[in-house]
Amino acid sequence: MPELPEVETTRRGIERHVTGRRVTSVIVREPRLRWPVPGDLAERLTGRTLGRVLRRAKYLLIEVETGLLLLHLGMSGSLRVVTPDAPLRKHDHIDLCLDSGRCLRLHDPRRFGAVLWIEGPAQQHPLLAELGPEPLGKDFDAEYLYRSTRKRRVAIKQHIMNSHVVVGVGNIYASEALFLAGIRPGRAAGRLTRAECARLVETIRQVLGEAIAQGGTTLRDFVREDGSHGYFQQHLRVYGRTGLACIACETPVKQIVQGNRSSYYCPVCQR
Ligand SMILES: [Zn+2]
Repeated sequence: MPELPEVETTRRGIERHVTGRRVTSVIVREPRLRWPVPGDLAERLTGRTLGRVLRRAKYLLIEVETGLLLLHLGMSGSLRVVTPDAPLRKHDHIDLCLDSGRCLRLHDPRRFGAVLWIEGPAQQHPLLAELGPEPLGKDFDAEYLYRSTRKRRVAIKQHIMNSHVVVGVGNIYASEALFLAGIRPGRAAGRLTRAECARLVETIRQVLGEAIAQGGTTLRDFVREDGSHGYFQQHLRVYGRTGLACIACETPVKQIVQGNRSSYYCPVCQR
């Protein structure tokens, strides 16, 4: 599933092909995504010039003169920049053709992705209104995390994976950040000290930042006209390493299940 780093990499990859370009045509081959693609999408976009490509959580927002185009990659979606004669693959559902002669092409086998039109302030849209701060933004800091955890008995891992608390911290990144911070995933959120919250904010930023930096190497995929667009595998310190030696102390890594998701931790390094 595309996580925040892949979405940010996608944003950076498509922005330079999209911003300032005029839409010459829109082709919707399959409107049945997670929600129906608006029937008047072509009418709204054709002839319009596209502005910046923004990201909020895992949503991409393309500025149009008259509103915003919201894109979500769902479970299996990807965007590529192709030439119009690039061979169509199965599940290539939507093309946004631009005056550069290239098309922004959405591919989504499982169709959990979304393409929606937003008028009015994005932050008031129902999909965006309830979201917590961005993990890489200035509003997510030690004091914020500390306050959000007070009197909370929920496990800290589930707390940081809650999008009302902070967006974009998926299962892998939560495990990795807790390992680097030396905090057990099952600890009650309310039991974290201020110093631990400060450390955890830093390690969340670190693991997401590393993944985005690594994703930068895949940017060429956004101009490739054939071939697959695979998501990147990060070097993992603890996730998926059940029974293997902890990279810091060589104690076997433990695995537990929290909220139907696997968590991994070192019983010595994490307290
Ligand atoms: Zn260890």
